[in-house]
Amino acid sequence: MITDTIKRFVGQLFKQRSHGAQHIPKEKHGIDRRNVSRHAIKVCEVLQHEGYQAYIVGGAVRDLIVGLEPKDFDVATNATPEQIRPLFRRARIIGRRFQLVHVVFGQEIIETSTFRAPASILNTTDDHGRILRDNEFGTHEQDAARRDFTINALYYDPTTETVIDFHRGVEDLKKRTVNMIGDPRTRYREDPVRMLRAVRFAVKLNGKISPATREPLQSMANLIENVPASRLFDEMLKLLTCGHAMECLQQLRQDGLHHGMLPLLDVVLEQPGGQAFIELALDRTDHRVRAGKTVSPSFLFAALLWHQVDLRWKQRIKNGEPTIQAIMQAADSVLDEQTEKLAIQKRFSSDMREIWFMQPRFEKRLPKAIWRILEQPRIRAAVDFLQLRAAAHEFDSVLAQWWMDLVNADDSTRARMVEDLGKLPRELGSGASKSRTRRRRRGPRPGIPEHSNAPTID
Ligand code: ATP
Ligand code: MG
Repeated sequence: MITDTIKRFVGQLFKQRSHGAQHIPKEKHGIDRRNVSRHAIKVCEVLQHEGYQAYIVGGAVRDLIVGLEPKDFDVATNATPEQIRPLFRRARIIGRRFQLVHVVFGQEIIETSTFRAPASILNTTDDHGRILRDNEFGTHEQDAARRDFTINALYYDPTTETVIDFHRGVEDLKKRTVNMIGDPRTRYREDPVRMLRAVRFAVKLNGKISPATREPLQSMANLIENVPASRLFDEMLKLLTCGHAMECLQQLRQDGLHHGMLPLLDVVLEQPGGQAFIELALDRTDHRVRAGKTVSPSFLFAALLWHQVDLRWKQRIKNGEPTIQAIMQAADSVLDEQTEKLAIQKRFSSDMREIWFMQPRFEKRLPKAIWRILEQPRIRAAVDFLQLRAAAHEFDSVLAQWWMDLVNADDSTRARMVEDLGKLPRELGSGASKSRTRRRRRGPRPGIPEHSNAPTID
């Protein structure tokens, strides 16, 4: 009992020592506590009860203030991982370099990390100024200083419902301005990924990057080349699934951040043709993200690279290669070029291949082949992809819908659908998409309906 009281008293003392910080009351920041994860609140309460400081921090606070739904909730505390872990029934320490604790509540994980000191204080950057080590515990104030933007360095105390703000982040947030903490050049040198993050947050907030934070982007863009490919891939994925993919890509281009570093972006933004397809794909992704649905990275990247695969596939067919072999070779050459820089992980690239390789198989509807197609593990994604192609007018929309209906049907309906095919005139039954596309361009042939209404994809 007494130790509890002392711990709490010490905690309060520490709280008051975060001077230099603004303590912003509920009326000013406007966070409605009911929108805060109860598990994140619980983690803070348990830690505070033990006498530690504990706050919800980062993206969640930023999103709550502007009325967006946070993706996840992180907690920052002055307790060390060893002190945190025993306080929760299901908690595990993760990370080798900088350890933090995952506190698990059913499906939700609250990432709980100890205050950390910034690299500038630790003096641990390489010759280019890139951070090598930032794994030292620090004070609350130092933890705020090591974060990237002022809007990402806000700490919400669910007990008092105040936001602690060392860098005028709430003010920037109200102005929807992305502002680097400290000297932008130094901070980009420490971690070039921050350039991409700046763009993503500005677009997400429907705001802008402050002039000082934006100015170095063009001249420092080449530093992104030093970022490990896997990290670049993660960031790229975040960008594409933030709910505003196309805007992000356009902004990257405007800021000169797309060149060379991501061959994928060169393909998406610079190549003539194929834009309609990509726009549809990104639009569909944005809609799914905003509706709180999941997005499959393989599907997304398969869509972004499809135009290239398609071009090379057709070229190979023209050169006399068999259809399936041609698409496999085309896929390999496109993926080889991309993975050099972007590190599309194996699990994604093999799914992408499957989605692509299924496409030629949808052109013919031969009963035996249909049943084999239905057994493919990625059939759903592949049929979804087919819908996208139909919406982009590169595949017959009625035929695409037939495949979708087939996949969604139960076994007896499927059997009937396949059986019904036998009753159709031969050319309709097997329905190759290419002949239909040609047909559409030339106008309908007598007796064959023209289907130009692409179905909506969602
Ligand atoms: P979101 O999760 O919506 O992408 P976020 O702000 O939560 O946005 P995370 O990558 O989850 O971003 O990181 C959590 C917090 O960690 C950030 O809010 C920021 O304070 C800090 N942070 C993340 N990446 C960096 C970085 N590269 N440099 C400095 N601080 C960072
Ligand atoms: Mg986050």
